Amino acid sequence: MSERLREKLSILADAAKYDVSCSSSGSDRKNTNKGVGNGHYSGICHTYTEDGRCVSLLKILLTNHCIFDCAYCVSRKSNDIERAAFTVDEVVELTMNFYRRNFIEGLFLSSGIFKNADYTMERLLRVVKKLRLEQNYNGYIHLKTIPGASDELIKEAGLYADRMSINLEMPTETGLKLLAPDKSHKDVIKPLGFVQNQIVQFKEEKKLIKSVPKFVPAGQSTQMVVLVLHLLKKLFRLDNLENYTSIN
Ligand code: SF4
Repeated sequence: MSERLREKLSILADAAKYDVSCSSSGSDRKNTNKGVGNGHYSGICHTYTEDGRCVSLLKILLTNHCIFDCAYCVSRKSNDIERAAFTVDEVVELTMNFYRRNFIEGLFLSSGIFKNADYTMERLLRVVKKLRLEQNYNGYIHLKTIPGASDELIKEAGLYADRMSINLEMPTETGLKLLAPDKSHKDVIKPLGFVQNQIVQFKEEKKLIKSVPKFVPAGQSTQMVVLVLHLLKKLFRLDNLENYTSIN
């Protein structure tokens, strides 16, 4: 692996660790004695499949560049952090190399939004398509849905991913506006409903026609930001946050 790719992996695996749609291994034990294994704190995490197996995933962002400024997110545009972006081919190469060496059994791929939602979603789609169609990769893929991406791109991605997720972030539109002013509540809610409808529709069609492909066979998930009320009050000098105590 080139030095630059190693550097990108370090930045983009670290940035992905805050997404808890799957649980992280969380250890910082390093291999300093030329022994076996390395419980490094980011990059590989574990999740449970539908049949109860625990599998290890390469957990990365395509990029931590983002045009949005969500207050709770380390990748927000106003945060002064080191930025990086993988190319589509780099993600494919990393996944295949780690998979062949038995380091991972799947890929968890998310991304900051660069340029716009469709531009980002299209790149995520290209990664999963390349893996499935060119590399004949049959391992597990959990793909993040980019809020605001078109139905067509989401639908196509669902034919290659095992699981998809989109972060609901906040239960109300007002709450979302407060902490993620660039995000539209509709752009988050709509894909959730769309993917769910497609899952039902594909399942129904498959009962009638065997050749209908699987759509997001492991289902979809979401996550919400958990607010620490007094911390937010301090940070943003807000006195009217009582509405959100219910999700603490
Ligand atoms: S859109 Fe996603 S990556 Fe960008 S700042 Fe918001 S939560 Fe972070």
